[in-house]
Amino acid sequence: MSDSITLPGGDWPTLEPGWVWLCGAGPGDPGLLTLHGLNALRQADVVIYDALVEKTILDWAPEAEHVYAGKRGGKPSAQQRDISLHLVDLARAGKRVLRLKGGDPFVFGRGGEEAQTLVQHGVPIRIIPGISAGIGGLAYAGIPVTHRDVNQSVTFVTGHDQSGEAPSSLNWNAIAQGSQVIVIYMGMKHVQRIADALMAAGRPADEPCAIVCSATTGDQSVLETTLARMTADIAESGLEPPAILCVGRSVLMRQVLDWQAMASGSAPRDLDPLGRGRPAERA
Ligand code: SAH
Repeated sequence: MSDSITLPGGDWPTLEPGWVWLCGAGPGDPGLLTLHGLNALRQADVVIYDALVEKTILDWAPEAEHVYAGKRGGKPSAQQRDISLHLVDLARAGKRVLRLKGGDPFVFGRGGEEAQTLVQHGVPIRIIPGISAGIGGLAYAGIPVTHRDVNQSVTFVTGHDQSGEAPSSLNWNAIAQGSQVIVIYMGMKHVQRIADALMAAGRPADEPCAIVCSATTGDQSVLETTLARMTADIAESGLEPPAILCVGRSVLMRQVLDWQAMASGSAPRDLDPLGRGRPAERA
């Protein structure tokens, strides 16, 4: 497979010895890696990858050493520091280092801390963005993260903080009132508390929600539910992280945009799920 993919012609940057490139791998489907990501994989001596990086992506760096630096669910930050310092050591040893992280490295991925540590140690860096699960994962479920009839803003939140608790610093009232669509990363553990906080802040109990698990991978599964039923439905379905929770009426668009179901022969459930009663493009 690795030989069959070539980069389009152009001036691709060179990963020099002693540099670290922090790269987003996208949410799962290897095709969602960027061309800069592929260019990086082609040159790296060592690839340090996270738990959520789709393993087949590593096949595109067959010559490189692959080092797993997985860490799931709010473990102590000492481990994070170890990873960052390991990157520093590798760079100082003259390696071409690729730090590959799930989704986008700067979205709830501690990429900022790793990059800062590298810069503080004088290691030159390049950042390669990736498709974040909260956008690309929803798109694979047929949910537009913004949709003109639904939301003019979207809020991305994390469902737990560094300690693994529900983030106490978040003002759930402000989020509930300020954003029509709320996209929650790492929300499964505290889903009940999050749903309760949003309903207490005035979001309707029957507001549409979707849980998109292992988005964009072969194991993708999607649960459509409501704020009030979300916790029980997740428990009953047996769905497991990684999952993105989406709260808001854009979830309804899945009834017309579930392109994966349509590709396997299902008819759209409702051509006008928001009940506009007019063609989609008319103002
Ligand atoms: N940097 C990543 C997010 C890392 S935090 C990004 O930009 O996507 C890890 C959380 O991301 C998971 O707990 C889950 O909420 C979400 N996530 C990552 N990959 C996912 C996937 N394939 N499907 C569903 N959720 C995913």
